[in-house]
Amino acid sequence: MMSLPKVVLHEHIEGSVTPELALVLAKKYGVSLPVGFLYEEGEYDGVDFPSGRYQYDESDFGEFIRTYDVVADLIREPDDYYLVAKDYLSRNSQKGMVYCELITSAHHLCFTELPDGSSELDSRKYHDIMDAIDQAILDVKAEFGTETRLHGCAVRHLNLSDIERSVRFIKDNPRSMITGFNIAGNEMAGHFSDFHYMHDLVDDIPLAKSYHAGEICGPESIRSALDCGAKRIGHGIAAIKDESLMDELIANNITLEISPSSNRILVPEFNQSLDHHPLRRIYERGVRITINTDDAGLFGTDIDKEYQIAEQVFGFSRVELLDITLCALEAAFISDETKQTLMDSVYETFSDSDKDVLKQTCLTLQSGALYERLHARLRCLN
Ligand SMILES: [Zn+2]
Repeated sequence: MMSLPKVVLHEHIEGSVTPELALVLAKKYGVSLPVGFLYEEGEYDGVDFPSGRYQYDESDFGEFIRTYDVVADLIREPDDYYLVAKDYLSRNSQKGMVYCELITSAHHLCFTELPDGSSELDSRKYHDIMDAIDQAILDVKAEFGTETRLHGCAVRHLNLSDIERSVRFIKDNPRSMITGFNIAGNEMAGHFSDFHYMHDLVDDIPLAKSYHAGEICGPESIRSALDCGAKRIGHGIAAIKDESLMDELIANNITLEISPSSNRILVPEFNQSLDHHPLRRIYERGVRITINTDDAGLFGTDIDKEYQIAEQVFGFSRVELLDITLCALEAAFISDETKQTLMDSVYETFSDSDKDVLKQTCLTLQSGALYERLHARLRCLN
C-alpha cells in the first residue's frame, strides 16, 4: 500500500498536528497541556499511532472541539506553521502521497485583538505565516516531489461579520499557492443560505470552490453548496440518501472528499463504526470520490491508513484505489499542465496485472457511470 500513489484534497492545517508535535510546541511556549490530554505510552497501539494519540471521548463532539482548540492555540508563529506543514507533508509523502491540498483559515492564522477592544486580521502576520508554509511546501517538493496547494477558508460557525471579514481578506490578500476557497466549520451552526448575500463577493474571488456539506446535515446541504458554486464537496456522504442528487453529481463531475476515520468519529449516526458508512455504495454508483485525512493529527491517521481502511473495511481493490487517486487529481485545483504530469505518473504505476484486473472489472460491470469511467481509464492505458 505504501507505494500506491495517493492524493489528499482535504486536510486542515491546524488539525494535522500530531501529539508528538503538540508536545514540542507546548514546551516552546511553556504551556501545560490539560491532564489526560494524551494517552501515555503503553495505553495505545504504538504501531497504529506512531506519533502518539490524543485522549478524548470520540463520541463527544464537544470534547473533540475542545481538543482541537487546545492544539490550534499551540501554533502561533511562522516557524510553527513551517514545522506543522513540513511534518504532515513529509510523513504522508513517505507513504505515497503525490499531491495534497491543505486548508488554511485566515481567522486562525492572524486574528488579532487590538488595544481598543476591536479586532482585525493582521495582513503582515498572515503573509509571514504563508511565506513559511510556502517554504515548507517547496522543501517537501524538493525532497519528495510532492505537489501541494492551499485553500483559503471561511469558518461558518463564526458570526457573520467575521465570515465576511475572512472572505474580504482572502480576496484582498491573494497568494500564489492558494488555489481553492473553502467553507468549513460546524455545519449545524451556519447554513449557506444564512450568508447568501456573501456569495456575490465570493464569486469575485478567482479561486475554485470546495464546500463542506452533507457530513452532519442532509442532501439539501449539498444541493445548496452546489447552488453556491462548489465544484467539490467536503464529505458529502449524505448524497447516498438522494438518488437524483447522485445522478446530478455524476452528470456534473462533482467530486466528494470523503474521510472515513473522521466520519466514524464525528458523524453521530455511524455510532463510532464504519459498518454503515456509504463509501463503497457511493463509489459503485459511479460518483467521483476521493479519500482524505481531514484532521489527521486529531484522528491519529495518515493517508496510508485511510487507503488501508478503504481496502480492508470496504474491499477496494488496488485498481479501484488507483482510480480514486486519478479522480482526486482530475478534481485538483491545480494547473492543467501539472495535473497532466501527475496523472501520467499515476497511469505509469499500473502493472500488466492491474490492467488485466481493470479489463475484468469493466467486463463484469458492463454499463453505468463507474463502467464508463473505468473503461476510459483502460483506453488511456492502451
Ligand atoms: Zn474538513
